[in-house]
Amino acid sequence: MSKLSAVVAWRDAAISDGWESSQTYRGGEAEDSASTLTRERWRAQVYARSERDCSVYVWGPDGLAVPAGDVYDFPALLAGLTHCKTCGRSGVSTHRVGFAGRVCAACLPAERKRVVTPGWCN
Ligand SMILES: [Zn+2]
Repeated sequence: MSKLSAVVAWRDAAISDGWESSQTYRGGEAEDSASTLTRERWRAQVYARSERDCSVYVWGPDGLAVPAGDVYDFPALLAGLTHCKTCGRSGVSTHRVGFAGRVCAACLPAERKRVVTPGWCN
């Protein structure tokens, strides 16, 4: 399966699973190529423009990023809420780092140093 078909399949599966789709750029780019999906307080951005420009981004109800996975799988998204992608541990409580990054308490100090660049705080 091409990457673009995988992204389209992800979006279609999410919509079948109850996510609501809307045009990301109202009055602009077609919903087919740039859509925003929501389900309760979850949010996803789906770009399906071309083989080289297609991606899925997901944020959980806490506003922090969750790995979208190659295939839509809501239980996996739920598991992403307690997954630290820095050390790979699952089932841990997670904290915000940077804009919407998610890390466990053990990784937080190092990730803060890495992600937060000088000049962010005056
Ligand atoms: Zn960690």
